[in-house]
Amino acid sequence: MPSLSPAEAQSRAAAVTVRSYDIELDLTAGDETFLSTSRIAFGATTGSTFVDVKPHTLTEVTLNGRAVDVTGLEDGRLPLDGLAADNELVVTATMSYTHDGEGLHRSVDAADGKAYTYAMSFLDAAPRIFACFDQPDLKAPYKLVVSAPRDWIVLGNGAATQTGPGRWELIETKPLSTYFSTLVAGPYHLIRGEHDGIPLGLACRQSLAEHLDREAEDLFTVTGQSFDEFHRLFGYRYPFGEYHQVFVPEFNAGAMENPGCVTFRDELVFRSAVTDHERGNRARTVVHEMAHQWFGDIVTMSWWNDLWLNESFAEYMAYRVAFDATRYTDNWLEFAFVRKWWGMQADQRASTHPVASDPDKDALASLADFDGISYAKGAAVLKQLVSYLGDDVFLAGVRAHITGNEYGNATLADLASKWTAAGATDLDRWAEGWLRTPGLDTISAERTATGVRLTRTAPAEHPARRPHRFTVGAYHESGLGSTVEVLLDADTVDVELDPAAALIVPDAGDDTWAKVRLDEQSLANLGTVLPRLTDPVTRAVVWNSLRDAAENAELDPRLVFDALCAALAHEDTDVAVQQLLGWARRTLLGGFLPVEPYTAQLAAVLEERLPQLAAGSSVQLAAARGLIAVTADTDLLTGWLAGDDVPDGITVDADLRWLITLRLARLGAIGDAEIDAELARDKSSEGSVHATRCRAALPTAEAKERAWALITTDADVSNYELYAACEGFWHPSQSEVTAPYVDRYFAEIAGTEKLRSGWVLSRSVLLAFPTGFVDDAVVAKATAIAADESVSAIVRRSISDGADDLKRAVAVRQAFSI
Ligand SMILES: [Zn+2]
Repeated sequence: MPSLSPAEAQSRAAAVTVRSYDIELDLTAGDETFLSTSRIAFGATTGSTFVDVKPHTLTEVTLNGRAVDVTGLEDGRLPLDGLAADNELVVTATMSYTHDGEGLHRSVDAADGKAYTYAMSFLDAAPRIFACFDQPDLKAPYKLVVSAPRDWIVLGNGAATQTGPGRWELIETKPLSTYFSTLVAGPYHLIRGEHDGIPLGLACRQSLAEHLDREAEDLFTVTGQSFDEFHRLFGYRYPFGEYHQVFVPEFNAGAMENPGCVTFRDELVFRSAVTDHERGNRARTVVHEMAHQWFGDIVTMSWWNDLWLNESFAEYMAYRVAFDATRYTDNWLEFAFVRKWWGMQADQRASTHPVASDPDKDALASLADFDGISYAKGAAVLKQLVSYLGDDVFLAGVRAHITGNEYGNATLADLASKWTAAGATDLDRWAEGWLRTPGLDTISAERTATGVRLTRTAPAEHPARRPHRFTVGAYHESGLGSTVEVLLDADTVDVELDPAAALIVPDAGDDTWAKVRLDEQSLANLGTVLPRLTDPVTRAVVWNSLRDAAENAELDPRLVFDALCAALAHEDTDVAVQQLLGWARRTLLGGFLPVEPYTAQLAAVLEERLPQLAAGSSVQLAAARGLIAVTADTDLLTGWLAGDDVPDGITVDADLRWLITLRLARLGAIGDAEIDAELARDKSSEGSVHATRCRAALPTAEAKERAWALITTDADVSNYELYAACEGFWHPSQSEVTAPYVDRYFAEIAGTEKLRSGWVLSRSVLLAFPTGFVDDAVVAKATAIAADESVSAIVRRSISDGADDLKRAVAVRQAFSI
């Protein structure tokens, strides 16, 4: 299906003015389809255009009372001819419920058989729900009427009122873009609240009700604190009436910023114990979506090429506001350890792109840029911009942008002009290096006779001259030291710092976007000084430097592994423990290093550390999960399942049981019967997904064939079940049983574009990539498909990213003869 091009969007926006949408949806027509009537009032200065609609059956269309030939529908577009200055279009259609998280998704809860629906219109899915002019810059007010089963509730962008049994009317909204129109309908559990005159709601499936009840106070508190802070920062009150936050099943993204009715993935309700880090992540997701209410929803990008601005802004604001206004304190540590690491990898791949992406990309191609560059790099760059402009100028520009473009659309150029009006200078030069050039500089430190010399090197393939403002730290063996602020706006800058310091760390506060390299002397002293650094953010900067040097084959991964084991003996933040263990499992074990003896060594380190950690602490939970994932001690695992010798402070709850079951399955210590027994204990939808992952992880030919059939042939499987099968399938310890599937992956995976599209296709192709086969021949096969233009762009992008990681592992093993 062709995707809307920017040229098509521009000519339609120039010719069409949408005045209003009146939409009626009937959700009582069975489990497969629903009825949709879209009444669109619009002005036109052209004789013909097209409306977007992707129905199961297009029933009837009238334009100004005249019938339109429904057989004209092709590739989701219905041509409209004979337009008047003012028009009324009525489109009646039967639409299909979806199971891929886009359109009107319908999901049946395995726990109780109750069905739930929610609308996800992003990026081009609105026409799967109702006929519309689907592009961000054709905004209009919406009125929605919904017929639903009588025991359901209905929520949406406008406040909903029940006007009769099963009948709901939503008040007319402010002008909205199609991509954030939504509807939530089902027997949801709803908790109401209020803050500063804004009616609040939290909702989830009935089977999660007790957990949401427990979490409601935390969620309402973060929401209220963030509303206050956004009102203070933007000087503009939240305008969309009620503010609902609904936790919905099988959601692909973390959340979606629909005005007045944000949807979140419902793992965020937390049915089992979580770490403070995970709780902080949820708070930042809440704040992120709230930031979008202003930046994204009140003012919307004109075209998808400014999607980065939406996301970078919301990401930056999420960390800033969560830090300044909520009880969560590890925000910038998480940003350094997790988000920046994600973005730094994306920015070094073949698929890297400038933060501000190509204005000529069509809607679907823009989806591929929805990555660590749009979020993490963009946010880091905005943080640099704040220190470059000063906070007052930054905020004055943002305020003028929101007020000046309310309920309309704007571009980066519009925002830049507001910053310039507020006092910014030389923004063009700044934007050229930071926004329009991909790649990241390397910043290294060298000791001179009297101080420290910093060197900035841009990547040869993407030359740029980027100014960096950050601090440099010099630390003694005690871990104590001092920092100085630097503006690095030349190839080298000399800094007054003690050249005899044990450790010198450029960008010690993690303020810029660059690869940091430590000098030889600092590397030699790391074992002593790193555990003694008191600021965990500086430790994160050092770890990003070590990990990046390993990934670029500059540092022996065995040395990094040793440093990681040593760090686990003293690290006291759950963020570091979770992130370092995750990186070790995904990248070192079976990637840069053989699976053994390193997996056993890591397990031994964790087994020794675990009893030393405070009972019930987040670090203890992170270490326990880490041990479960790497231990081969099946007695320990089955003992924990039975409640034997469980460390004090650890609760073997539903999700931890499944982690243990997954490890036992992977080791071949259990089979289908034990997985079925676990599912009988946990009959929830979550349990079903866990069980699928465990079955795919069994090291038998039969289990792998079953999972492979699901991945490559099952068009009806729900998105979460599919991801779970992909995640369970490969493991470097199972290369014997999975080896035949390497060739099958390259032969069959492109064909899955006939089964799936968009987000689900992109994610499943990447998750199913055979990462553990560190071999030039596999890299060559992946590279060939990534370059094959007969294969869908979405598939090629995911394979290209998988190939990059594999290529890196091959290079590391070669460089260090591993
Ligand atoms: Zn966002």
